[in-house]
Amino acid sequence: MSQTTHFVLPQSEIPTHWYNVLADVPEPLPPPLHPGTRQPVSLADMLAIFPQNIVEQEMTAEQRIEIPQPVRDIYALWRPTPLLRAVRLEKALQTPAHIYYKFEGASPAGSHKPNSAVPQAYYNKLAGTKRLATETGAGQWGSSLAMACQMFGLECVVYMVKVSFHQKPYRKMLMQTWGATVHASPSEQTEYGRKMRQQSPDSPGSLGIAISEAIEDTVKTPHTKYALGSVLNHVCLHQTVIGQESLKQMDLAGEYPDVVIGCVGGGSNFAGIAFPFVERKIKQKKSTRIVAVEPSVCASLTKGEHRYDFGDTAEMTPLMMMHTLGHQFVPPAIHAGGLRYHGMAPAVSHLYKLGLIEAKSYAQSQVFEAAVQFARAEGIVPAPESSHAVRAAIDEAIAARQDKQKRTILFNLSGHGLMDMTAYDSYLSGKLID
Ligand SMILES: *Cc1c(COP(=O)(O)O)cnc(C)c1O
Repeated sequence: MSQTTHFVLPQSEIPTHWYNVLADVPEPLPPPLHPGTRQPVSLADMLAIFPQNIVEQEMTAEQRIEIPQPVRDIYALWRPTPLLRAVRLEKALQTPAHIYYKFEGASPAGSHKPNSAVPQAYYNKLAGTKRLATETGAGQWGSSLAMACQMFGLECVVYMVKVSFHQKPYRKMLMQTWGATVHASPSEQTEYGRKMRQQSPDSPGSLGIAISEAIEDTVKTPHTKYALGSVLNHVCLHQTVIGQESLKQMDLAGEYPDVVIGCVGGGSNFAGIAFPFVERKIKQKKSTRIVAVEPSVCASLTKGEHRYDFGDTAEMTPLMMMHTLGHQFVPPAIHAGGLRYHGMAPAVSHLYKLGLIEAKSYAQSQVFEAAVQFARAEGIVPAPESSHAVRAAIDEAIAARQDKQKRTILFNLSGHGLMDMTAYDSYLSGKLID
C-alpha cells in the first residue's frame, strides 16, 4: 500500500475549547500597563476600544474556554485543516527525517487569520458593535476580518500598510469583495495619518502606524470597536485550534514531533501550533523543541529586548511586556509583510524568557529558496511569511541527514502564497535583495 501522507479529521473533531497556556506557565505574565499612569490596565481602560467579552478573554485565568457554537459552525467551512507528511520533500532532501505540516492556507482567506477574525466578529456582534476598525500588513488579517464581519453583518474598515496596498492589490480587492472599506496607511482619514504623511511623504507605512490609525478611528467613531489580528492573548488563544488538531493528527500518523516550528510576526500562528505542545512539555515533560522563526531584518525575539513597550507607533496602546525592537522601528519593506512588526506577543515572549521555546532568524533569500524547493516537491506555494517556517523545517531535515538520525518535524504552513506571486517573481528573476 502506498504511504499515507494526508491526515484528515472529521468535522466533529473541531476543538470544542481554546487552550490558554498562560494558565499553566510557572511564572505569571507581567500585566499590560496604562500608558499614562504606568499602573496595570483595568478592564474599564480597555473598553474604549474592545467589547467587554473580548477584554475578559484577554485577561482570563481560565485554562480552557469553550468555543461558541456559531463560531464552530463557521470554522466548519474549512476546519479541521489537513495535516500532511511531506514525503516528496523528504525524498528530495534525502533525509531520514519525517516532515509534517499543518496547512492553514486551506481557509477561505488563505491563512490562519480567520481562526481569530471569526470569534472577534462574533463577540463584537454579541456586544452590540456595528463597525470594526483594524489595520493590516500584507492584507491577510484585513481580508480575514472583512470576511468575518460580512458573515456577522458588521461594517469593516481597514488601514492597510501602504507598501502592501501597492504591492498586493489583490488582497485589497479581496477585502472589498467581502464588503470592507480599505485605506492605504498612513492615510488622510486620521490626524495621526496626516501627521505622518507630512513628516515623510514617502513613508512605506508600518503595522505600528496603521494600528495607531485604526485606534484613532475607533475612539472617534460611534459604535466602532477595534480588532487586532495578532500579538494579544485572546488572538493567540483563538489560534490554538491549530495545535489541538495537530496533536490528534500526529496521533493518527502514529508519531510525536521532536521539533515544532512556526513563523512569527506578532506571534499568533506560532502560538496556535505551539501552545498545545508547550502544555505537553510542561505537564508531561516532553522534550519537544519548539522553534519560532523570524525575518533577520525584523527579529524581535533574537535581536530585540524584553521590556515594556507600546504596541503602536503613536503610543496609544497599553505598554506590554514583550520582546521588541522599539515602537518607533520601521522595518524594511520585505515581502513577508505579515512579519513586519516591531514587537512580539507577550505570551510568546514570556515562553521564550522561560526557556520553553527557541527562536531563530533567516534572511529573505534563504527563505525564498526554501519556498521554491517546497513548492516544487509538494505543490503548495507557501506564503512568504510561512516560508520562514519552511526554511527552518528544511534545515532540521538537513541536520537529521547529517546526524543520520530520524527526526520528526512538524511545522505550521500558515498560509498559501498565491497572492504573493510578485514576491516569487522578484526571487525567480534574481531581483530579491536581503
Ligand atoms: C499574518 C501572517 C503571519 C504572521 O502573523 P502571526 O500573528 O505571527 O502569525 C504569518 N503567516 C501568514 C500566512 C500570515 O498571513
